[in-house]
Amino acid sequence: AGSGKFFVGGNWKCNGTKDSISKLVADLNSAKLEPDVDVVVAPPFVYIDQVKNSITDRIEVSAQNSWVSKGGAFTGEISVEQLKDHGVKWVILGHSERRHIIGEKDEFIGKKAAYALTEGLGVIACIGELLEEREAGKTFDVCFQQLKAYADAVPSWDNIVIAYEPVWAIGTGKVASPEQAQEVHAAIRDWLQKNVSAEVAPKTRIIYGGSVNGGNSFELAKKEDIDGFLVGGASLKGPEFATIINSVT
Ligand code: PEP
Repeated sequence: AGSGKFFVGGNWKCNGTKDSISKLVADLNSAKLEPDVDVVVAPPFVYIDQVKNSITDRIEVSAQNSWVSKGGAFTGEISVEQLKDHGVKWVILGHSERRHIIGEKDEFIGKKAAYALTEGLGVIACIGELLEEREAGKTFDVCFQQLKAYADAVPSWDNIVIAYEPVWAIGTGKVASPEQAQEVHAAIRDWLQKNVSAEVAPKTRIIYGGSVNGGNSFELAKKEDIDGFLVGGASLKGPEFATIINSVT
């Protein structure tokens, strides 16, 4: 971990019922969590109110997506204004499932990030390469292009956490090695230094996502440029998610 405050997000994706979420929240409320870690969970939209009303203040609530501009005639979308109305503090944008299954493009994601930031939400800005892109030696090119789309759009980097999530590691059980993750995190920081500013680069938290679990988080957390995690599957289990949070070194 670097010098910034460790940041761990749980992305619950399209999982859960009122009952299972009530149990997960109870487990998180009773877990012992290291104090010096920002902890955020991202429930499905329909459970945000339930979670916000039952979870400890120690844990902030994030959305998994938000609309690109002010709400209005956009069937099926949820606006930043509505998220704020529910006390949501963060939004995950550019997740690989939205890029590759739903088809969201770099420029659209950049605009969403800009709008959310302007309205006062923090943004967990996801980037990451596909397996074929890694095998073709294009990992840095892909990550830098996705980063540039954010950089071209956002008003400031103050409220952005970058999540590096190699797509081949998401939900596959194939975690990046600490060395593989560190290599890309260092390259991202170098890119920020050269393309954003010398001030933003060291203070922007870069978190890793992709099959993080209670067994591999400690080794990953030791790496200099890994400032936390975005966790999918393992965030649905309260005790294991607590272990990951507490892997800060
Ligand atoms: C994610 O989708 O953000 C993620 C990291 O998923 P998992 O931990 O399940 O690989």
